[in-house]
Amino acid sequence: PRIFFVGGNWKCNGTHNSILKICEDFNKGPNVADAPVEVVLACPFVYADYTRYNLRKDWKLAVQNCWVGKGGAFTGEVSVDMIKDCGIEWVILGHSERRNLPELKETDETVALKVAYAVTNGLKVMACIGELLEERESGKTQEVNERQLAAIAAKLKEDDWRNIVIAYEPVWAIGTGKVATPEQAQETHEQIRSWVRKNVSPSVAEDVRIVYGGSVTAKNCKDLGDKPDVDGFLVGGASLKPEFLDVVDAYKCK
Ligand code: PEP
Repeated sequence: PRIFFVGGNWKCNGTHNSILKICEDFNKGPNVADAPVEVVLACPFVYADYTRYNLRKDWKLAVQNCWVGKGGAFTGEVSVDMIKDCGIEWVILGHSERRNLPELKETDETVALKVAYAVTNGLKVMACIGELLEERESGKTQEVNERQLAAIAAKLKEDDWRNIVIAYEPVWAIGTGKVATPEQAQETHEQIRSWVRKNVSPSVAEDVRIVYGGSVTAKNCKDLGDKPDVDGFLVGGASLKPEFLDVVDAYKCK
């Protein structure tokens, strides 16, 4: 069975005060060290040490980006080695904000290079894919997901997939309050898993966790998590609030 996975993405939010407060709230929740759920919070780089120090130790930490290769003369970048040196095990890559914001515009190729470098150098990766509203409306959801996934898969060996979680995040659902229906999520997750079965291997398809992201809250998480191909969530806004504990608790619906 796939272990339920709940990622939180704080994006570019937080101060020392607000992080201390939310860590204190999260630290009151039940210990999940022996529960069938993995919880990983992605904080801004500059607060990584501070968050690690204050956050419960049964939850793991991620950052939200990394450089494509080794460290060196890459002003402003943060390398995989630095991230690991800070005791951080995970990274989010290919988030739709990094793919689509006009100031960033990361391509499929850049995302794939980052994923491959990170995973072959000891980080675990939440690899995000997902379609824009106009792509869903014009029936291109599957095509877009498969294109983004194929770019990543082309650079990975079968073994690398052990350290990858696929985050399906329809862009129209991110930060909009407009969540995919459980049926839409299941349908798309099933398509993604079939693609992996055909293009990577049946055993990777069976084992890889495909999590849903896009306006997940304490209210809607149980219906989404109930679906057979939804193996957890990537949560933005609600991961900055105590209700994230209820989203973590959704593992019990499996
Ligand atoms: C995200 O940032 O990955 C996300 C899913 O955001 P939200 O939950 O706020 O829609």
